[in-house]
Amino acid sequence: MINILDKTFVPFISRETIEKRITELAVGINADYADSCPVFIIVLNGAFLFASELVKNISLACEINFIRLSSYSQTSSTGSVREIIGMDASIAGRDVIIIEDIVDTGLTMSQLITKVKAMSPKSVEIATLLHKPEALKTPVDMRYVGFEIENKFVVGYGLDYDGIGRNLDAIYVLA
Ligand code: 5GP
Repeated sequence: MINILDKTFVPFISRETIEKRITELAVGINADYADSCPVFIIVLNGAFLFASELVKNISLACEINFIRLSSYSQTSSTGSVREIIGMDASIAGRDVIIIEDIVDTGLTMSQLITKVKAMSPKSVEIATLLHKPEALKTPVDMRYVGFEIENKFVVGYGLDYDGIGRNLDAIYVLA
């Protein structure tokens, strides 16, 4: 059990389980993109630990780029993306894999997908560490999903509660 600010969180997914699953996702990506040089777009801030573990296990020649989005206020989604900074890669004609920490309502990802598709990539797929199917408000096609979880607020492994908890090496759920 850990306390962050005014909330208590309990262990949910261990570091070992997370890293084993990320390795499996990487094996799939290595096979699916064997003939390509994909561009990974890492969605900051939350995906930084997932992405670093994932790309360490990618054996393909690839490019890595970053984008920063913000749509959350403490423990609930605001429904709109407040901030979009970055993405300086040319992705026209390229295979793109977006790396995200969690797809909750899906609103952030559907806006990002629209933005990325407008840049004429050859393909766009999503790799997300976590997905909350019950929270989804708009259809999002996710090719690589680490864990489907129930609709509860989680922290750790890149995910924060009001700025705190991103460095935790496992995932914790609000008690
Ligand atoms: P969506 O637009 O899918 O509702 O949410 C996208 C963003 O909200 C995620 O990238 C993540 O930053 C944040 N988010 C959604 N659910 C959670 C959660 O359970 N915990 C934390 N820490 N952030 C979340």
